[in-house]
Order: sequence, then structure tokens, then C-alpha cells
Amino acid sequence: MENIKGNEMGEEIFADIIIDISHEALDKVFQYRVPLSLRDAVTPGVRVCVPFGAGNREKEGYVIALKKEPDYDVNKIKEITRVAEGSLTVESQLIQVAAFLKRRYGSSMIQALKTVMPVKSRVRHRQETNIYLAITKEEAETLLAEWERKHRTARARFLGRLLVTGQMSKDEAVKECRFPLKELRKLAEDGVIRMETKVMYRDPFPQFEKKETFVQLNEEQQAAAERFRRDFQEGVYPTYLLFGVTGSGKTEVYLHMIGTVLAQGKQAIVLIPEISLTYQTVRRFYERFGGRIAVLHSRMSAGERSDACERIAAGEADVIIGARSALFAPAKRLGLIIIDEEHDGAYKSDSTPKYHARETAVYRAQLAGASVVLGSATPSVESFYRAQQGEYVLLTLKNRAGNAALPAVETVDLREEFRQGNRSVFSESLKEKMRERLARGEQMMLFLNRRGFAGFVSCRSCGTVMKCPHCDVSMTYHRSGRLSCHYCGYETAFSRQCPVCGQPHVAAFGLGTEKVEAALYQEFPGIRVLRMDMDTTRRKNAHQEILQTFARGDADVLLGTQMIVKGHDYANVTLVGILAADLSLFGQDFRSGERTFQLLCQAAGRAGRGDKPGEVVIQTYSPDHYAITASVHHSYEEFYGQEIAYRNLMAYPPCAHLLVILVQCGDESSAHLAAVRIQKMIEKSQESEADPVQLLNPGHAAIAKLRDLYRQVIYIKHRDADRLEELKSRLEPVLEKHPLFAGVQIQFDFDPVGIY
Ligand code: ADP
Ligand code: ZN
Repeated sequence: MENIKGNEMGEEIFADIIIDISHEALDKVFQYRVPLSLRDAVTPGVRVCVPFGAGNREKEGYVIALKKEPDYDVNKIKEITRVAEGSLTVESQLIQVAAFLKRRYGSSMIQALKTVMPVKSRVRHRQETNIYLAITKEEAETLLAEWERKHRTARARFLGRLLVTGQMSKDEAVKECRFPLKELRKLAEDGVIRMETKVMYRDPFPQFEKKETFVQLNEEQQAAAERFRRDFQEGVYPTYLLFGVTGSGKTEVYLHMIGTVLAQGKQAIVLIPEISLTYQTVRRFYERFGGRIAVLHSRMSAGERSDACERIAAGEADVIIGARSALFAPAKRLGLIIIDEEHDGAYKSDSTPKYHARETAVYRAQLAGASVVLGSATPSVESFYRAQQGEYVLLTLKNRAGNAALPAVETVDLREEFRQGNRSVFSESLKEKMRERLARGEQMMLFLNRRGFAGFVSCRSCGTVMKCPHCDVSMTYHRSGRLSCHYCGYETAFSRQCPVCGQPHVAAFGLGTEKVEAALYQEFPGIRVLRMDMDTTRRKNAHQEILQTFARGDADVLLGTQMIVKGHDYANVTLVGILAADLSLFGQDFRSGERTFQLLCQAAGRAGRGDKPGEVVIQTYSPDHYAITASVHHSYEEFYGQEIAYRNLMAYPPCAHLLVILVQCGDESSAHLAAVRIQKMIEKSQESEADPVQLLNPGHAAIAKLRDLYRQVIYIKHRDADRLEELKSRLEPVLEKHPLFAGVQIQFDFDPVGIY
């Protein structure tokens, strides 16, 4: 889009403009001609004045796109009058971000706008109207005497009371004083009283207290915070990677950086993975910044969300904490975006546009003149690569804050355990260490990485796996005696009898948290277990309640899936057991090794956060895999060295980029046909290219059917991201309009996380 400038030959340029940027009206697009004199000034995001409607009343609107061809009768298209005053607002910035999302990740402009624009709620804010005297006390007394004389009792009662109190709320006047609103308005019109209306924002955190705590940063923390402060004061706004081992005090560094930004009158956005956005996390920020914080997350009501957005837009809140989408908070004076646990997969959106918060944050920050800080104990391979390339500034915290040491890590070879005849899910070594903890009254966390492994049910006789008829994924067995699908929630009764061979040998395979829980009770009678997984956390606040129970010491074991490895700090946890490290190692995508390493490190990081030393036991069938050995050595560098060599060899991100085209259709052969056509189109477009894109593996998606749609997927690779962007931009309009693709859903993704 940027290079549409028209030319001297008199080619014209048209601008798509939205007048009203409330969510409901985003798709009401009006087209205007861009006059020659404004060609350089009018770009997406710019606010312009246009003649509107039959009367050509002047209105302001935002340009969202530029086009060479008009969509309407060219004679009916009016012209933009001028660029509006103060034309680059926070909305302009967000529109430019939307244009970036569309361009990079693929979506319509409307979808992109809906992603970035705050939802205006229909919920009315609680307002409070106060009434004051608008005349002097003497004048009021005279008036009161007159009304009493004329027996205007209601007026006299009201004025008498206002004279005593000096101020009165509207409710008080109407309800207690029985003085009608109509009369109040009359008095206001006559200049007797003044009515002032104020929006009452709800206090989002009445339960927290601001504290005057002061933490003395250690040397490493100090160096990181100081580097940031110097750059910021000099007006240098790069992207930093804060690489600090778990417990190294990254949060404390963030708090200092935010302090620097606030001191210059700017605002900061802090992104935290939704799952870690807990009571404790928010409290830590509240204790430092008090009522200046605003929180945005998906469990909020529309009213709470719009309150928060208004406080941010009004500049009342200047520390914005939230999950991925808080990146689009309407902060006008943005100075800093922090992304904590930047490696987390949740920063990639799973609906179109499938943006990555990290990349998008860097883009928004550049527009706003803000810095970005990415923090992690196990940085994404992408970010570490960019830091190595000098694109990001690397800040390192090598040691744990305070005096906590890194835990000792032991690997147990499960093949060996099996040979020794141990059929339990717990190795001998883990059992022994657990007994010690129980005896000493210390706590433990047991971690079962079930990602990509659903505890599937199959027939031992013929091998048939019980699958969801809508999603083509294996279903999970629950103790309630039902099978369910984790994608769509489909449920059916479990039966021992195989639907294919008829033998009564259908059984659940593998290890689920429920099974481990049962094994715990059997192995350690009297043990107190808290289980945290998708099933036990479905209820609102359930997640928090489980963690609080554990923090109070009311359980010996916290057992769970990856949910439990995120950023919780329990001083009394001295043992972490990883029951089957392999479960994520052999997933179907190129990030399996990275994900395993991250999970192992994060899980290990939960042990020994207090004064007592911690121990970690990793049970695995592949103790020699580098993702496992590197986590035993607490060595990110060891892992990264191996991993980047693999990515480079295979041309995977960050060494190259991947564009994904997902084709979905209710009819299997139509989906297939559409995919083949797209493949042919791409191949044809590459014929004359010196350095063509690489097409891989067109065919069934890993999830071949989801919600009754058949899925075909096309992966396209190239070392240069711009080449893929260009290819997508050329394909997109063709796929959208061509009748051959009617009835077929086509989605794009760029550098995917997870599998299709
Ligand atoms: P991370 O986010 O890097 O895992 P945290 O910021 O949660 O680490 O810090 C871990 C623990 O160390 C917290 O309990 C924190 O209060 C404490 N801590 C952080 N910085 C310091 C410091 N400079 N001195 C003493 N304790 C600190
Ligand atoms: Zn399903």
C-alpha cells in the first residue's frame, strides 16, 4: 500500500475513510478522492476533514487504506478537504498497527481494525451529579425568605437544606429532599444552582494497598535498569531482551524501568501471559504504583474493560497490565512496552489476523517512540537470535536474586526403570525424594506435560483409536466414564467394545493428571494433593483458589499440566518432579525441542525459591536429547547452540520464515481442489523468480478435520520475510474474489506457533 502515490500522468488515488471509529461502525467505509496537493500527507491512520452527506457538512475521519481504483461511480466521489489538525492521534497509531497486521499476517482491514480498536461498551458509567449554590449566601437567604412567603414549600425545603450543607448530590435532592429533577434544571437555568456531573470509575482493586517498599537492586539488576534509564533519557528507544534466570528478579527490574518512564510523564504497557495474570502479579504492581495501574484481561466484563480503557485514554492510568490484546491499549503517551515471559506461545493470536505480540509491539513502539523490553529465563530462539544479530540489546541477569541457589537437577532414565521392573509412574528416586519431603513437611510440584498427547483411547486388539467425529483428534477418557474431545467438547460414552473389530479390549492409554492423582493416593496414603488442569480450572477463579490453597500450605503436592509452571513463587517448594519429559519432545512441529526446554526450565525454576535448596527430577525416555541435557545444566546457551544449528539447516524461523495458507471447507474434495489450485498459482508466479519461495508439503493439516470442516494446509518458506509478505498480498485479493474459491475459507498465518 505504501507505494501507492499515483503519478504525474494524472492517475488518481482514492482513500477509504471511516468516520466513526466505534467498533460497531468500523465497516462503514466511505471513499474519497485524494487531491494532488495532499498525496504525500494522506496515509493510513491520518485524520482528515471531508464533506459528508447530502449537506456536505464537514466531518473528520480516519484514512484506513489507499486505492488506485474507486469502488463506486467515480463521478460521485467527493474530495478530501484537508488534513485535520493534530492529525496523528493514538487512533491513527492503532490504524497503522492494523494496517501492519493486515499486511504481515493476512486479514481484511476490518478484521485488523476490530483487533486493535477498543470496544466502546454500551454500559453507562456510574455518574454522580453534585449541586452547588451559584449565587452568594446572602442572595440565597433572600430568595429563601421570598419562597417561604409565597408558600413554595418544595423549593424552600431544598434551598434551605443546600444553604446548610453547601453541596448536595442529585440523588439526595430528588430522593431525600423530594425535589423533582425538572425543578432542579429550572433552578440551574435561572442561575441559582450549579450542577456538576462527574464519571465515577469503579475502583478496580479495592482490596489492594499501595506500599512504600523499596528494594535495593543487586549489581546485575542495577546495570540493566541503568542502561535502560540512560537510553530513555537520551531519547534512544531500542528493543531490549532481558535474559534472566528464573528468580533473578526480572520483575523488580521492570518496576524500575516503569518508574523511569512514568517520571517522564509517559505510560507503560506490561504484557503477561493470561495464565500468569494472577492476583499476586497484579498486587505486586499495585503495591508499587497504586491507583495508576489498569488491568485488561479476557475475563473482565464489558463495563470493566471500557472503564479501564477510558482511564488509560484519559491518562488516569499509566501502567497498563494485561494479556496479549492489552498491546492495543489506547495509551496516548506510550513510552514502554514490556513483554514478560516473551517466549510464551500465548503471545501468538490464534484468530485472524494471527499476529505475534512481540513483533507487533516492536512495530507499535516505533510509531510511538517507545522502547520494548522482552523478558524471559528461556528466550524464544527468535529473540535470542535477534539479540545475537545486534537487532536487540541484550541485558543479562545470571544469578538468582537474594541468596536462593539454582536447584540440583537429576535425570531418571525410564527405560532403565522399566527394566528394573518398576511399573509405577514414579521412579524409585522420585519416590524416595517425595517421602523425604513428606517427612519434613515441605511441598512439591509434580508436572505432567500433556501437550499434544491426549491420553488417548484405543483398542488393544486391532489398534483403532477413538476419535472425535468432528475434529479427527483422539478423545480423552474421563473417570466419569465418558470420552471427550478437547477441541470441540464433543462427548460420548466409553465402551470396552471396539466399534471396528468387536473385541472388548478398548482401554485408555497413557498418563493423565487424574491417573497420577490416583497413583499418588495409592503410593502415599494420606498425602494431600491439589490437581490443576483444564478440568479443575474451568470455573471462574478456580485457578486462583487452587494456588492460594497451595500457598497456605494446605496441600503437600500441586499436580498439574503446564499451567503450574508459570511464575508462581512458593518458598516451601523444595522438589519438582517432571513425570514424562518426552511428551512434548516429539510433537509434530519444529518448535518441540524449544518448547520442551522451556517447560523443563520453567518447571525446574519453581524449586528452591526460598532459603531451602531445591531439587528437580526429570523422568524421561530420552535422557541424551539436548533439550534435556541443557536443562539439567541450566544452560540456555547449550540449548540455543544446538537449536539454532537445526533451524538454520532446516530453514526454519528465525533463520527463515514460514507463510501458512490454511484452506477449509465442509466438502473434502473442494478443500483439496482449492489447495491444489493455490499451489499451482504459487508455482506459476515463481517461475520467473531467480530466488523462488519454497513450497512444502501441501496436503492434509495435522488436524485434518475441525468443527466439521476439512483442512488442507500449504507451507511456504523463504529466508526473506518481505518476499512472503509480497506473495501473500498478491494472492489475497485473487483468493477473495475468484469464484473458484467461493465457499472455501482461506486463512493466512506467518511464522506459526503450534501445528495446524
Ligand atoms: P523473576 O521474575 O526473574 O523470576 P522475581 O522478580 O519474581 O524473579 O524475583 C524473585 C524473588 O527475588 C522475588 O521474591 C523478589 O522479591 C526477590 N528479589 C528480586 N530482586 C531482589 C533484590 N534486589 N534483593 C532481594 N530480593 C530480590
Ligand atoms: Zn471435536
